Amino acid sequence: MSRIAYVNGQYRPHGQATVHVEDRGFQFADGVYEVWSVFDGKLADFEGHLTRLHRSLNELRIAIPMSEAALTRVLQETVRRNRIVEGIVYLQVTRGTARRDHPFPAEGTPPSVIVTARSIPLSRGNASAAKGVAVTTYPDIRWGRCDIKTVGLLPNVLAKQAAKEKGAAEAWMVDEAGLVTEGSSTNAWIVDEEGVLRTRDAQANILRGITRAAVMALVADEGLKIEERAFTVDEVKRAKEAFYTSASGFVMPATSIDGTRIGDGKPGPVATKLRELYLERARRDAI
Ligand code: PMP
Repeated sequence: MSRIAYVNGQYRPHGQATVHVEDRGFQFADGVYEVWSVFDGKLADFEGHLTRLHRSLNELRIAIPMSEAALTRVLQETVRRNRIVEGIVYLQVTRGTARRDHPFPAEGTPPSVIVTARSIPLSRGNASAAKGVAVTTYPDIRWGRCDIKTVGLLPNVLAKQAAKEKGAAEAWMVDEAGLVTEGSSTNAWIVDEEGVLRTRDAQANILRGITRAAVMALVADEGLKIEERAFTVDEVKRAKEAFYTSASGFVMPATSIDGTRIGDGKPGPVATKLRELYLERARRDAI
């Protein structure tokens, strides 16, 4: 079946879905994005991602392109037209098209909106989660506003490519103090030597993951001990378990870091349980 993309008010065949050469997303990475996972054709953690989208737009003073109701319809319609049962829907909003000049374009320049969707069978992620994945480390060379979900992802791209070249699934970025910040497209967690869950404080310079927040709520429901506190790579190596969270990967157990085995080298009970609970809840609440 051919794929369909939404671009500035039109549903177009994927191969013909294009933006202008002077779109500011293309010229300056002057735009933001969101990704929702899709279960049974419905969007998971819908409100959380929408709220973060509005925050990202607001922080960058990009106009809100359409009403919440209209945007919801476009996202759902893109999923429907692509017949996605399990997968993801991607939204990008940029500051629009204007002659290439660094300052913002004239007031009233409409933001560009694109939406794409892709099938990803749940079984693929489940197979990785059952085995556990490898992570590598990479220096965090990003800017000071990683809380904004911008399309400026070059450091993340370099980190992920370096991981891939070492046969790893994800790169955990490390700051100058030797502390893990987050993954290239995920939030990083461990179960430390004392059995306490740890993940970096979301007030630090990281993305405030929607899956991270959803998992935090599950952790509270389960009565597990948690500290929002950064950890070193050494602490990861000594941890009982490690895992990462994201809208597309849910909860993914990491069983080695830079080639050193974590715990017994198998997905741990906490990560496995949280994945199961997250999937159950996300599916139930999807719209
Ligand atoms: N950190 C970074 C850098 C990311 O790109 C992502 C995924 N967009 C995440 C964390 C996870 O966020 P979420 O759970 O909202 O997908």
